[in-house]
This record gives sequence, structure tokens and C-alpha cells, in this order.
Amino acid sequence: MQEITLKARAKINLTLDVTGKQPNGYHTVCMIMQNLSLCDTIYIKRIDKPVIRVKSNLEWLPTDERNLAYRGAELLKNTFPIKEGVFIYLDKKIPVAAGLAGGSANCAAVLVGMNKLFHLGLSKRSLMKLGLQLGADIPYCILQGTALAEGIGEKLTPITSGCPFCYVLLAKPNISISTASVYQNLCLDKIKKHPDTKQMLLQMQQKNIDEMGKLLCNVLETVTISKYHEIALLKQKMLSFGAKGTLMSGSGSTVFGLFTEKQKAIEAERSIKKEFGLRDVFVTEIWNKKQQKKERVRNG
Ligand code: ATP
Repeated sequence: MQEITLKARAKINLTLDVTGKQPNGYHTVCMIMQNLSLCDTIYIKRIDKPVIRVKSNLEWLPTDERNLAYRGAELLKNTFPIKEGVFIYLDKKIPVAAGLAGGSANCAAVLVGMNKLFHLGLSKRSLMKLGLQLGADIPYCILQGTALAEGIGEKLTPITSGCPFCYVLLAKPNISISTASVYQNLCLDKIKKHPDTKQMLLQMQQKNIDEMGKLLCNVLETVTISKYHEIALLKQKMLSFGAKGTLMSGSGSTVFGLFTEKQKAIEAERSIKKEFGLRDVFVTEIWNKKQQKKERVRNG
């Protein structure tokens, strides 16, 4: 095999709780992660020259060691006796610096893809352990699906019952929030409302999207909403169009709404684009086992 094409899927957090702070400064979390249909496409090709070359459809995105896809390839090259090089093309659709783990998903796809291309024979668990060196979200991006993430995000429990299908409206305000600054500004003692993770898992299992909507909760909103009012306005707007619930994903700035009716999600998308003048607003879907099966059938 000389080349491989993979899909790197976006994720949202249905719940995000911060449970403490480790002596090394890292915060411990408890969160439910869920993939979306929205994805980047990652093409990887073996090349004779022992170099890593990254290109993407976004001209402004760094293609050197600042790019997580580059760093994934570099990590494998430094860890295993890979003599050749790789050319990586990132066709990016996931908004960047948006709380949707686009960079982490790209890195995960490179680790998975190069494992196959160079016959490294690494198990999923080994790849997840390696990926953790480059970021706390990367193990989840390798695991995929619906998962409970604890520790610094690396202790993963797959949720086998999965998440019920619904439409997900994403809207990214024109603000890029650094994850580090959100955590730095978080006052753990002042958080009044924490997510009820157990109840969310139960409602997911019962496929009760109405109840799931009410239980969406991300403690990092306490930091971002007070600074960026647009996040609250986007949430209100989505609810007025019939969203079952809304939330900021990860450390932001993307806001998402869960919809059971596609038409309502599309109407909300149109209205938000017009009223807020945002480019990154689109309707995607929960990526669950049914969706995966459908895609497998489509691809033969
Ligand atoms: P997370 O939810 O994991 O915190 P995010 O969705 O907030 O991630 P990313 O899209 O991963 O954010 O981008 C965060 C930063 O990573 C940006 O500053 C971006 O320049 C950098 N980055 C590095 N590699 C990539 C990549 N392949 N795709 C997108 N961003 C990348």
C-alpha cells in the first residue's frame, strides 16, 4: 500500500465538567464526547525522500511542526525505524480553533494511517498511548464514537449504547479562544452548576433527546459567556428555532444545538448566518453506529 485516505471526524462535548487540578497544573475533567458526521479528509502517501510534507486547503494553516498532523508523523518516524517519508494532504472542513478537536482528529488520522501504511502493527490502545504525548484529546480521536473521558481526557470508557441520531447545528462566532486561557480563568469554587453525567448517560441510553437537551452542560461556559456575549445570543437563537438544547463545545467558541427536525435546523442556520454574519454555520449530524453502517453500505 502506497497511499491511504482517512476521515477525521469532529467531536462535540455533550457534558464537560472540571473535577480538579493536578499538581502539574493540568485540570482533571469528566466529559461525554461524541463524534459528528462533519469531517476533514486526510490523504497520506509514502515518499522515498525521508521528509514530512504537509499541505492543506487552508493556506494560512501552518504546515510545519506547529501542525498536529505533522507532529503525529514526526512522532512515529522518531519512534519506529521508518526510512521513507510522507506527504500529507489535509482537506479541512472542520472549523479551526473551534472546540471541535479538528487538529487532534487530524493527528489521530495520521497515526492510524501511518500505522497501516508502514505495517507498524500497533494496536488501537498503543496508538492511543502514543497520541497522548501530543494532546489530551488525541486518544479519544483514535477511539471515536461515544465515550466518557476522565483524567485529563485520556481515561476513556466507550459508551456502547451510543448516542441517538439527531441533527446538530454548529455556529462558530468570529472569535478564537485559546483553551489554556479558558482553563486559567476558570474558578472551580464559583461554579454553581455541574453536569449530571450519570443522568445524561441514562437519557442517551433511553434515546430521549428532549431530556438530553435539558442536561447539556459545560462548566467552561462560565468563563466564555461572561466575556463573549455572542455565545449566549447564539444559544438563545437556536432555542427559539426549536433546538432541544444548546451548548458551547469544549473550550469554544463553537455553539451547537440539537434538533430532531432537519427543517428547523436549516431555518436556524439561515437566520444565524444572516443576523450574526457568520461563515462557519452548518447543519451536521450525530455520527453513531447507524450512520457508520449506512456509510459502509454506500461505499460497498
Ligand atoms: P480542541 O477541541 O482539541 O481543543 P480545537 O477544535 O479547539 O481543539 P483545533 O482546530 O485543533 O482546535 O486548533 C487549535 C490550534 O491547533 C489552532 O491554533 C491551529 O492552528 C492548531 N493546529 C495544528 N494543527 C492543526 C490541524 N491539523 N488542524 C487544525 N488546527 C491545527
